[in-house]
Amino acid sequence: MPRLHAIGSSTGIAIGRAYVMTNHQRREESAVERTPEAELAEFRAAKGRIEQELTRVAQRARQNSPTLASIVETHAMIVSDPIVANDIENRIGRGESAVDAVNSEFGKQVRLMMLSTNSLIRDRATDLEHVQEHLIAELQSLTTTDTMQEPMIVVAKTLTPADMYRVAQQGALGFLVEEGGVDSHISIIARDLGLPAIVSLRTAVASISAGANVIIDAYGGFCIFDPTQTELDEYRHRLEKDRARLSRERTPIQGVIATSDGTEIHVLANVDTPQAAQLAHEYQAHGIGLVRTEMMLSGDGSFPTGLQQQQWYASILNCCSRGSVTFRAFDIGGDKFGSYSPYTEQNPVLGLRGIRFLLAQPRIFEEQVKAILRVAQSGRTKLMLPMITSYAEIIAAREIIDACKVEIEDERNMLIDLPVGVMIETPAAAVMSDVLSQYVDFISIGTNDLTQYTLAADRTNELVSNMFDCIHPSVIRLMRMIVDASSAHNIDISVCGEMAAQLTATDVLLGIGLRQLSVTPHVIPELQRRIQHISIERCEKLVTELVDCRTSQDVRAKIIEHQAQD
Ligand code: PEP
Ligand code: MG
Repeated sequence: MPRLHAIGSSTGIAIGRAYVMTNHQRREESAVERTPEAELAEFRAAKGRIEQELTRVAQRARQNSPTLASIVETHAMIVSDPIVANDIENRIGRGESAVDAVNSEFGKQVRLMMLSTNSLIRDRATDLEHVQEHLIAELQSLTTTDTMQEPMIVVAKTLTPADMYRVAQQGALGFLVEEGGVDSHISIIARDLGLPAIVSLRTAVASISAGANVIIDAYGGFCIFDPTQTELDEYRHRLEKDRARLSRERTPIQGVIATSDGTEIHVLANVDTPQAAQLAHEYQAHGIGLVRTEMMLSGDGSFPTGLQQQQWYASILNCCSRGSVTFRAFDIGGDKFGSYSPYTEQNPVLGLRGIRFLLAQPRIFEEQVKAILRVAQSGRTKLMLPMITSYAEIIAAREIIDACKVEIEDERNMLIDLPVGVMIETPAAAVMSDVLSQYVDFISIGTNDLTQYTLAADRTNELVSNMFDCIHPSVIRLMRMIVDASSAHNIDISVCGEMAAQLTATDVLLGIGLRQLSVTPHVIPELQRRIQHISIERCEKLVTELVDCRTSQDVRAKIIEHQAQD
């Protein structure tokens, strides 16, 4: 029966009837002439409706999908941006229709962003395009209000986050979408919702008629429409097996997690929001190994007050009933929250980022440290410094922390225990880790930046994405140095970069001596299972064999060979 092949960007199988969404296709502007005042009123009303809808969607999404919530919040910010709205209103004032004004203004911004060499900025362009489509659909009253009468497979040209959330609530079984790539919002949200998706399926809407029977096989990257009875039977059987497997694999394991030869491993969580901390708790995380506190910032250049910060930190601490919570001081600069930096930098990734920014702006650093000290719970709260490259930075930061501690101990009338650690995420810190280990209470390896700076490959630049590889022998050699330094000085060590979430790298991490891995909460159940399956003895043997590897390909081949013997 007919099959369409494209990219299976969120795995799984789905069987159902097609719900074809054509609502967001543009139609020609109506010939009816309206006054600028009427167009302006129309634009403002449409903008207001979208703002309300996005706020509602973000609130609901926060409960089960932090990624979706943050995307919707970004869209809400774009819609509410006074500069964009002002430019659109000026165009309308000059006689353009509301639809033309929205298209021209957004079109201009999108074109500029698409010219950027920075992939983060190009991704923002997709956000703008989605908001543009949403506004146009609203202005043309094309927003769909019909609902699915039964759980169905959604077929669409494109989908906004709000569309996805709405159809997921109505029981969507999976997505077949003409646009999008593996890392597009559609794919990220589908993965977050745990629904299969095939994207870049160019002819989906034209080929699949509403109500047709469809099978999605996102493992194979294809869909079958109008399947035969034999195909239906086969896929029903596969779907049942798949559901049983997923429910086993997505259920976190309670209690101690140990390798097959009995070494206990702590699986912690990286969290960016209090909602993610709640998820970490549900996934049985053995504590929180990294809180990216900069994620609390609204993005408008202003900092939360000390009191607002305290509430945010306390809500994360309160979610975590097990282990400790490591708050990383604001990691501002580089590709993160550039608008917060008062400095103009040619090359911000090598500029005033992380601890350098905090030492240049000591008031911001002090305010944050004091807020953490005010809510710190003994033995449960830790402070971590980002982007360290030198001993001098640690000493300077500790002086500030110590002064804050004296003040808050006085205020709380008690001694406060706040271990201070550092991220080792630059080659300079890795090479000096034997020295740095003597001045801190713990270290955590940030493999994202360690890979970026070691291999001189921008982590956000698609042009060098093939070079950005955390299992490159040079990164592994540096990691071994760091682990050796921490054990020589008997301090706690963990890894909190993405490498910890890559199951192909677990054997390497355990083999070089790491016993604490901090990952995004969703990965915890799979990682727990991987750990239980492997033995430290074999992981150590693998690592001794990696010494001779010259390239990432050599390392990967060794890992595959090793795992094939499992
Ligand atoms: C890292 O660099 O590995 C890390 C965990 O920090 P971030 O990704 O926030 O830079
Ligand atoms: Mg980092």
